[in-house]
Formats: sequence, C-alpha cells, structure tokens
Amino acid sequence: MLPICKVAFMPCTDTGRQIPACVARVIATALVLVTTAAQALDLPSQQRTPGGVALIQIPGAQEKPVVTFDEKPVAVLRTGPSWTAMVGIPLLTPAGPQTLDITHDGTTSQIAFDVSGKDYPEQHLTITNKRKVNPNEEDMKRIRKDRTSIANAKRYRHPSILSTSFDMPVEGIKSSSYGSRRFFNKQPRRPHGGMDIAAVSGTPIVAPGDAYVIETGDYFFSGKCIFLAHGEGLQTFYAHLSSIDVKPGELVTRGQKIGEVGATGRVTGAHLHWSVGLNQTWVDPTLFLREQ
Ligand SMILES: [Zn+2]
Repeated sequence: MLPICKVAFMPCTDTGRQIPACVARVIATALVLVTTAAQALDLPSQQRTPGGVALIQIPGAQEKPVVTFDEKPVAVLRTGPSWTAMVGIPLLTPAGPQTLDITHDGTTSQIAFDVSGKDYPEQHLTITNKRKVNPNEEDMKRIRKDRTSIANAKRYRHPSILSTSFDMPVEGIKSSSYGSRRFFNKQPRRPHGGMDIAAVSGTPIVAPGDAYVIETGDYFFSGKCIFLAHGEGLQTFYAHLSSIDVKPGELVTRGQKIGEVGATGRVTGAHLHWSVGLNQTWVDPTLFLREQ
C-alpha cells in the first residue's frame, strides 16, 4: 500500500544557515541566469478547476502588469509580445466566475474567468498515534510556531523566474491523491495539498527545476522538509525527508540532489510528499510535469 501523509501541510523550521561563499553564489547565480535565458518558458498545463492553474493573457500591457487574485500577487510571465498570468486556483474555490485584478501602465482593470467544478474523492485513514490527529497542548505550541514559519515561506517570491515546468523529483510510485478530502480517524481535515511518491528511505530527491532554497527544517507534521522558490511565487515543497542536503539561500539547478526520502513527521511509511504552489496556494503538481 502506498504510504501517505496524514496532513495537508506544516512548515519547516530553519535549522541554521550556512550561506555559501560569496564567490560561489555569484557563479551559481550567473549559471542559473544564463541557463534560464537560453530556454523558452515551458508553461504548465491549464486546468481551470479548484486545484488547477489558469493561464490568462493580459492584453494591451507594455510594461509588466501587476496581477492579483484574491489579493495575492500572481505570477506574470513574458510570452512572446504579451504577458500571461499563471494563476493558482485554491482547492476550496467554488465553481463559477472569478476575477483577476490588473494594474499596468497606470491603469487598473479586471479580467473575469470561469472555474469549473471538480469532485475530489474522499480518503479515510486510520492513525495509530492519536497525538498526530488530536495534538496535545505542547504539540499545539510547536504547531502554531510551524504555521507561522510556513506562512512566511509561502509569501516569499523570488524576483526572477528560474523554471516553470518540472521533472519528477524522485523515482517512485506516484499517487493521485492530490486534492483528496481527508478524514483521519473519522475526523475531517484539510484536503491533501500534494502528490505522495512512494520510495524507500534514502532514495535521492532532486530539484525538479532551477530554484532558490527558501527554507529547510523539521516540523511536527511534515518532518524534515524543504521549500524551493522557482520565481514569481512558484514554489515546490518536499516533506518527510530522512536527510537534507541544501541550506536556505542556496541556488540549486535542475537535477541537483537536495535530500533523501524518509518517514519523518506524520506518515505511514517512507515516501516523498511533493507540493507545487502558486500565489500561496497548493495546486496539482501533475500540471507542471514535463512528461506525464
Ligand atoms: Zn502527502
């Protein structure tokens, strides 16, 4: 049986920073920028549903527009002669019309788009460690601290786009549990915000695209974990690791090892929990895979 996470998300705690030497960082930055400049942007697949991604052209803008959705800044990418907003649609968004707010060239406007309904299945799990379903007061102190850290990490936006499509971060068996409505010991919890990939402990995890390491740490639910920024608010998140090979502030390139699969935090067995975020919401990672 595929091991699974027992929680949508908890943040990582910074375990200490050892920023690489200045020279190394400059060289790494230059390499990433050269690589990025040489590649055309490979946009994700569009799916205008809860948990999906909307790609919306912004007509008539000369300068880069500022786009927000639900008051959160949205990724805006240069696509040929125009600009395209890459919008993450939260899992709890109701079907129906939605609105993007646009500011460009001194004017403000709105663009409407429709979100279709999507039913995600229920998933019922039995947790033997009851504290992982109903944490005690001490646990709650740690969980509250974790939540602050995750909120800070999710707000981080790397100013330049480093990658927009991904390779699989680990070799293993993919689940299709993104978005599943979860019940732990019959109690409803938040829907699953990522993809679980089953692999044995120690399997290497690689960066699925060029990225900046925002945060690493060890959390109550997520165990050892890493947040990567791919630019413009596009993020990826890795949980339940046995070891972490990167430090906050590092730049990593596609295919570079960042850690190893483990079973830390709230899990039934070794696996990687992998999430993809846009405008501070977790969307379906399969939309970003270069080969599906
Ligand atoms: Zn998971």
